[in-house]
Amino acid sequence: MLLRRLREIMAEPVNAQARLDKIVVNIASNMVAEVCSVYVLRADARLELFATEGLNREAVHQTTMRSGEGLVGLIAESAEPLSLSDAQSHPAFSYKPETGEEIYNSFLGVPILRGGNTLGVLVVQNRVRRAYPEEEVEVLQTTAMLLAEMIASGELQSIVRPGADIASRGPLALSGSAVADGVGLGHVVLQRPRVIVRQIIAEDIKKEKARLDDAIGIVRDSIDQLIKAGEEDGPGEHRDVLEAFRMIAHDPGWLRRLQEAVVTGLTAEAAVERVQNNSRARLQRSTDPYLRERLHDLDDLANRVLHQLTGQPLVTANADLPDNAILVARTMGPAALLDYDRKKLRGLVLEEGGASSHVAIVARALGIPAVGDIANITSLVEQGDAIIIDGATGEAHLRPPPDVQAAYADKARLRARRQEQYRALRDMPAVTKDGVKIDLHMNAGLVIDMPHVEETGAESIGLFRTELQFMLAPQFPRVNEQVTLYKSVLDAMGAKPVTFRTLDIGGDKALPYMRKFEEENPALGWRAIRIGLDRPGLLRSQLRAMLRAGGGRDLRIMFPMIAACGEFDAAKAMTLREVRRLAAQGHETPASLKLGIMVEVPSILWQLEEVLARVDFLSVGSNDLMQYLTAADRDNKRVSGRFDPLSPPLLRALKGIIDKAAETGTPVTLCGEIGGRALEALALIGIGYRGLSMAASSIGPVKAMILALNASEAREFLAPRLAAHDGAASLREELRAFAEARGVPL
Ligand code: PEP
Ligand code: MG
Repeated sequence: MLLRRLREIMAEPVNAQARLDKIVVNIASNMVAEVCSVYVLRADARLELFATEGLNREAVHQTTMRSGEGLVGLIAESAEPLSLSDAQSHPAFSYKPETGEEIYNSFLGVPILRGGNTLGVLVVQNRVRRAYPEEEVEVLQTTAMLLAEMIASGELQSIVRPGADIASRGPLALSGSAVADGVGLGHVVLQRPRVIVRQIIAEDIKKEKARLDDAIGIVRDSIDQLIKAGEEDGPGEHRDVLEAFRMIAHDPGWLRRLQEAVVTGLTAEAAVERVQNNSRARLQRSTDPYLRERLHDLDDLANRVLHQLTGQPLVTANADLPDNAILVARTMGPAALLDYDRKKLRGLVLEEGGASSHVAIVARALGIPAVGDIANITSLVEQGDAIIIDGATGEAHLRPPPDVQAAYADKARLRARRQEQYRALRDMPAVTKDGVKIDLHMNAGLVIDMPHVEETGAESIGLFRTELQFMLAPQFPRVNEQVTLYKSVLDAMGAKPVTFRTLDIGGDKALPYMRKFEEENPALGWRAIRIGLDRPGLLRSQLRAMLRAGGGRDLRIMFPMIAACGEFDAAKAMTLREVRRLAAQGHETPASLKLGIMVEVPSILWQLEEVLARVDFLSVGSNDLMQYLTAADRDNKRVSGRFDPLSPPLLRALKGIIDKAAETGTPVTLCGEIGGRALEALALIGIGYRGLSMAASSIGPVKAMILALNASEAREFLAPRLAAHDGAASLREELRAFAEARGVPL
């Protein structure tokens, strides 16, 4: 009866306050309670009385309490219903004189939940001491679902006082980790859109029961099929997730809760949402990581059932993307991001996943600003919410107030103007004021990187990270697929050279389809060339693909993580064997073949002479070289910033390489991150580096620095400081002052 009446009220063309007032009157009379009140959570974390039947009307929009304060605050905080026959003797009871509630003894309150988050609290009270039966708790929870929809829809925003925004609609500043540089302003598009339950109350309970059973049956079957289909591929992480799904889908407790919810008069989809809301509220507050992980499984399963019931799409399709989309996802695979039209994407927000995730690599290659590790973001946003992200700081501003919007719009404009200036430098050679030419190359790893060569005016691809193709693929790419990629890269480059690096996997770069070996110290473990030499089949097929793609052209190949001459000798022998094999089969061999190594393992620094006698070129991998020289994990935030590459000892190590290579005239480039930072690049030029390879977005800023720099001045500035042996931990500030005094832009 009540639910039917409430449905009518929801459809009436009245204003939000009038609708709320009618709702509380009807609940009170139907539940034979003297009081019914609605409290709504505000952005300032206070609960405000929005409507009441029975308490003093003057208290509406006046009475507020903190979350955690009083019985209402307790419900908001715990997200659990609370039923008391003697409310005033409860230790949390807090008396608000303006409401006149001292005469009421019994109290029943339920949280108004959405996505497991508390939006408000709904309360009924009675003068007599009474225990509220379970059915009444159920009915009140169902009514709370209607209110949740009303609050989330933004309808109540029209009746809030200025400065007292509703929490779920108010601004929220969130911070996570920086994933891909850039500022993005736009509107939220959930990658997995939340199902909108349009009809909460059932017309026919029997029919809803049947719908629920059917949907669960279909979802169960589809999980069984997925497991069966995956059986040929052997065990894997994916399989574990599906097994967990299957377990939950057959869990009698879950099924019972769903069926009970339908019996109270909900539609099948509302029942799923209600049960999921309660589980979310409970598990979100759990500190047990295992339970929190199960929450995701439960969410995914509930979502599948909901989509089955409503026919709404599980994933936002590219065609449904608006022009200024900021994609919000819990997690996302790199291939999924590639499915979307780059032109419509203004940004990416991940709940789980930071700078080293695979999707981060793709976001950077596409030039999409991205932030990661933003806790709970998928349940805090509504589709279409305004949002701003700052990929440099890892901040996200949800529903930003006008001043934040204005500040970021300025920042974005400034950035665009600077990009414009960098573009103007594209065809200008990177020559210092005293006439020293610096070769600027680009790091790449995907076909989508290729247009950047043209845009930036890079002289070559100084580092092509071939492992990215392997990381994005669902299984080992076949030789033909590798040939296709390498060929398209060479084709896109025309006359400009490409330096392909053989697979650098292991350590933090895992392939989902390759068996993982637990290692105590993965960075010091079985990775890169070590895997290549121990499992020659893999390296051989990659070399074959490179040689075939490079038929008739100039080809450059380098090997990562070489720690001893013998490793290069073995890799070189393998390469030459493949060349001979190719020739014997009548294939065209490369017009020229240059082989080199990454200098990134410290042991190489003390065998440069032997190395230089063997290789055609060197490429300094400063990311790894610095991590190994200082024994500080490059991906561990606690230690990665501990030592400055701009310190005399580390600069001396880098200078030793270039000085030694100069004796044999062997070309050297540096392809680690420091080459792409203007101040660090300045120092590298000062110690003698003339070739730097960097991310596309760094070429403009580094070139602008070079054009204003006097290289011999930089050399003279650094030489005495490297010779001083005074224990300086960093030359950063001195170098910055050097640049500023000479008007060198950083
Ligand atoms: C390096 O180590 O500096 C490098 C360029 O390679 P990666 O970052 O791929 O390890
Ligand atoms: Mg490296």
